[in-house]
Amino acid sequence: MDPSLPAVPLTRPTTDHRELEAVEQVLASGWLAGQGPRGTELEDAFARLTGRTHAVAVNNCTAGLHLSLAALGVGPGDEVLVADYTFPATAHAVLYCGATPRFADVRLDTGTVDVDRLAERITPRTRGIIGVDALGVPADWDALELLARGHGLFLLEDAACSVGGTFEGRPCGAFGDVAVFSLHARKGITSGEGGVVVTDDAGIADRVRSMSCFGQRSAYARQGEAKLAIPEFGDVGYNYKLSDVLAAIALVQLDKLDGFLARRRVLADRYADLLADVPGVEAPHSPGDREPTWQTYAVTVTEDVDRDATVLALRARGIGSQIGTYALHREPVYAAPADCPTSDLLFRRHLALPMYADLTDADQDRVVAAVREAVTSR
Ligand SMILES: *Cc1c(COP(=O)(O)O)cnc(C)c1O
Repeated sequence: MDPSLPAVPLTRPTTDHRELEAVEQVLASGWLAGQGPRGTELEDAFARLTGRTHAVAVNNCTAGLHLSLAALGVGPGDEVLVADYTFPATAHAVLYCGATPRFADVRLDTGTVDVDRLAERITPRTRGIIGVDALGVPADWDALELLARGHGLFLLEDAACSVGGTFEGRPCGAFGDVAVFSLHARKGITSGEGGVVVTDDAGIADRVRSMSCFGQRSAYARQGEAKLAIPEFGDVGYNYKLSDVLAAIALVQLDKLDGFLARRRVLADRYADLLADVPGVEAPHSPGDREPTWQTYAVTVTEDVDRDATVLALRARGIGSQIGTYALHREPVYAAPADCPTSDLLFRRHLALPMYADLTDADQDRVVAAVREAVTSR
């Protein structure tokens, strides 16, 4: 590996002059605050993308998860079943509501929740289920919807990583009572930070929108009212609005989504080909009934490969590398011992490699050469 070559990061947002121009237009318009004209446009675009009737732009996915659970009435004494292999924000949102997350193990091939394991964990205190499109791989939404309906539970889709993904031809974000996307810089499209809540339930949409703006309608929604309606605050609300500066960036990114996804798919296929004969490394293959977004490209290393040392060896060669994501039942904050052996395995053996729409074939070749070196020189 030539040390004079530039580093290949794990991820990098793909932006150009169009995002810059969109920001300039917002600055010139004078409307920078949240849920203004650009935010409203972004909400309409996400509703169209997912086939949902309502969308609310919020300042990040974690805030969207919090408000969605609050709007579903989750509170102290409730239990919410959560897919174990995910970023901690998924279960933090349950704690924000004073409820208790209960974790269920995942499938080895998808990293998404194992619906049979989930069903075993339903108790009289269970209020609902949070399924996760882990690393951008859609979960088993048909079985999850059946299970939730059969037990009178709510179903929430953590679609943080899956904008543009599909399950049985239906778009991610279309599943369950409510779904939440992230626009964080590590995700497929980004405004730096941001999130969008989508739902077909007008009541949930109204409560999320109100709670995202202190418990009232946004200034943009209130402007032009004939009479001075001084809001009354009956409930505590938050300030979780997405700035219109960021909404404008997100709109440009959404326009580019198909191109980004197409390039990530080519890169994923190319990785699978190039890694096929690398010992100790298994490329991901998701089932044919779903189209992942490849938000994260994580290989699984065999038991004899030291994953952590491999991450460090790659970084020493200028190649961005990371774990996959977390086995939440292991995290002290939840104090929730659970039997999740597959999630444990993925937490120990997943290794993420550079993946972003701008990644060149040449850089990808360098990544694979470095992986080969790192695992064979151990
Ligand atoms: C990134 C991520 C989140 C948090 O998204 P933010 O927009 O950063 O709050 C939640 N859940 C999952 C699965 C994620 O990957």
